[in-house]
Amino acid sequence: MHADIRLGRILGIPIGLHASWFLIFGLVTWSLALGYFPREYPQLPSGAYWLMGGVTSILFFVSVLLHELGHSVLALRNGVPVRGISLFIFGGVAQIGREPPTPGAEFRIAIAGPLTSAALAAVFAGLWWLDRAIPYLAAPSIWLARINLILAVFNLIPGFPLDGGRVLRAIVWQVTGSYYKATHFAALSGQVVAFGFIGIGIFTILGGNLFNGLWLIFIGWFLQNAAASAFAQTNLEAQLRGVKVGQLMRSSYPRVTAQTSLQELIEDQILRHGERCFLVSDNGNLMGMLGLRDVTAVPKAAWPHTTVAQVMVPLDRLAWVDPDTELMEALHLMDEKEVAQLPVVLANRVLGLISREQVLHYIRTRSELKI
Ligand SMILES: [Zn+2]
Repeated sequence: MHADIRLGRILGIPIGLHASWFLIFGLVTWSLALGYFPREYPQLPSGAYWLMGGVTSILFFVSVLLHELGHSVLALRNGVPVRGISLFIFGGVAQIGREPPTPGAEFRIAIAGPLTSAALAAVFAGLWWLDRAIPYLAAPSIWLARINLILAVFNLIPGFPLDGGRVLRAIVWQVTGSYYKATHFAALSGQVVAFGFIGIGIFTILGGNLFNGLWLIFIGWFLQNAAASAFAQTNLEAQLRGVKVGQLMRSSYPRVTAQTSLQELIEDQILRHGERCFLVSDNGNLMGMLGLRDVTAVPKAAWPHTTVAQVMVPLDRLAWVDPDTELMEALHLMDEKEVAQLPVVLANRVLGLISREQVLHYIRTRSELKI
């Protein structure tokens, strides 16, 4: 879930909105302005309902953001990077950079969200208790208390990828000692819950409530997709398990000297030989690495007078793996550093290169061979 609009950073984490968020924001505001507030406070001008609806809706999405920040803070504390938080049609999602290292970490990260929502429910309930005599504050306060409680409880439903499903995965992981078994189990629970939502949605429609029924089916469909992709991800991890970088790396790789211009590089290497990644050296010493993407970042007109050394990723910023690194670990590292390849280094010597493309090719070939 990428963000279409960036809002800024909190605790160093980029916060963004997906375009679909506006739809749910509109729906929540609309139902508050035309349903809830007119019932609570009859005979106000309609502008007042929309204003109250908009403000309450924004506070609701701030609550959702705090729920995701709850996950994120615990993730960072457990050494798991967080790439960003996006709000979208089904609420919020914190993009966790990799799977948690232990069942304990998984449990803490998963439970932090619902606990944050439960705490917010308590805060808004306390606020309601203080302002219950003040007309225009009481109804928003109690609504926000209720919706945060619903958020806490809904997220604890034990179907992956809901938080409850992650808690379940942490428990099965702890008990069986196997991350793979735990994810398979959690993904299965997610599919059961997803079909449950779809089933209840169909009955709701048959019972005459079209909108709520469609909404439940929509949520079920989303959960089903997410559970299925978690399943595929585990299969991938299972396939790559035990395969080391050294088994797959290319040991012949193109080298260029630091003073080569981008123009020469493109004509002599990239176009002629189809190479996409180069180690840069000067007098035989490794200085850095350069990928196709670093080249395309430079405008075409500057190619003749830009040297490889000016655009390469220098050695001190370069991530690398050793031949004994697991392939999955290398993929995670590429994701984290946003690169398509990594040098394979042993005892300060570059042995080869491993690229994302090679890994994908390896997976495709394995599935063609049905092994
Ligand atoms: Zn959550």
